[in-house]
Amino acid sequence: MNYFLKEKEEMVRDLFSDYVNKRIIPIRAELDEKDQFPADIFTEMGKQDFYRIVVPEAYGGLGDESMSAALGIEELSRGDGGIGVTFAVNAIATKGIILYGNEAQKKKYLPAVADGKIYTAFGLSEPGAGSDAGSIKTKAVKKGDKYILDGVKQFITNGAIAGVTLVIAVTDPEKGHRGQTAFIVEQGTPGFTVGKSEDKMGIRSSVTNQLIFDGCEVPQENILGSPGQGFYIALGLLDRSRIGIGAQAVGIARGAFDEAVKYSKEREQFGQLISSFQAIQFMLADMAAGIEAARLLVYQAARQVDSGEKEITVPGAMAKLFASDMAMQVTTDAVQVFGGYGYSKEYPVEKMMRDAKVTQIYEGTNQIQRVVIASKLLK
Ligand SMILES: Cc1cc2nc3c(=O)[nH]c(=O)nc-3n(C[C@H](O)[C@H](O)[C@H](O)COP(=O)(O)OP(=O)(O)OC[C@H]3O[C@@H](n4cnc5c(N)ncnc54)[C@H](O)[C@@H]3O)c2cc1C
Repeated sequence: MNYFLKEKEEMVRDLFSDYVNKRIIPIRAELDEKDQFPADIFTEMGKQDFYRIVVPEAYGGLGDESMSAALGIEELSRGDGGIGVTFAVNAIATKGIILYGNEAQKKKYLPAVADGKIYTAFGLSEPGAGSDAGSIKTKAVKKGDKYILDGVKQFITNGAIAGVTLVIAVTDPEKGHRGQTAFIVEQGTPGFTVGKSEDKMGIRSSVTNQLIFDGCEVPQENILGSPGQGFYIALGLLDRSRIGIGAQAVGIARGAFDEAVKYSKEREQFGQLISSFQAIQFMLADMAAGIEAARLLVYQAARQVDSGEKEITVPGAMAKLFASDMAMQVTTDAVQVFGGYGYSKEYPVEKMMRDAKVTQIYEGTNQIQRVVIASKLLK
């Protein structure tokens, strides 16, 4: 299929794809089993300039187009969903600094991201506030030229490895979600500790942490955007990050589909290859069609962002919703094609099914995506 990619986009896709085949696919089962973040892989990706595709040229990057990022995330996720999401979250928190940061903040952090010296994270969710992000409790109280942060963030991807985390906190409780502010919090800031690491069903090569703020002093120059803008910054980033999760879902599904096709041409039952059974053929055909449909929604949403289109909420939500439901279906069907062996850890498809599940949950659950889409439709 021709996706009419630009030359640079094809280069990104091919570079990431080759790397995944050589370096990630051979180790993914071990990372999953050991619940291990592959620090060496991420260092290596930095040396190969992978992070430059999410940073503008003015700050040492190669441009920060959504399409290139989506292609990179898709390829990484074809190999391993955990590595895909680590890259995706690094990209989106970085995007927060690109879109809302002042010049000093951009100069301080973006070249470091481009060089692979720091990773970034985005801390919105809390133990008591997930879908209802307007109800977060982490507070930031002004004291002189500092803000004192107190509270707990939950399920933060890259939490333990991020050099900087964008943290949304309440600065004016009277104003509800209009009283939230975004802060750039550096690793090692006194009063900021990384809490427990989640023992997850899937994407086990990624790190997910609780973050604890206990009298954490953040200088006021670390406010991202302006006071009171935090909730809107979070929504603006979610509009974009959902495209990345859609890309992750497409990548995971492609990985499972490739395995299913291969296996169907090797496994024999009743004296013939299982690929000769129409039941298997139809399953593969439906999987392929679903992947293509999701891929086009993801690419189209990324193009909308790159073209400067203002309305990106619905395309991003549709891409994430459709792609993640598709990935759950495709990975489940891949397990079915493998029969009993699909249920065994000897083959990679059970891991892909576990990896796919979270794409229906984070960056807003799929119930919330439907709420978002419907509320725009009915406006
Ligand atoms: C592995 C992982 C990584 C994550 N990474 C990050 C991260 O980097 N940064 C971050 O800030 N967060 C992160 N999250 C948090 C994630 O975004 C939330 O888990 C998600 O938004 C859902 O919130 P919740 O878990 O509190 O579920 P809840 O909001 O408690 O939802 C429970 C159920 O109720 C449904 N529900 C809730 N409200 C409604 C409604 N109005 N209408 C219909 N149904 C509803 C939900 O769809 C869901 O089925 C991560 C989560 C996971 C699991």
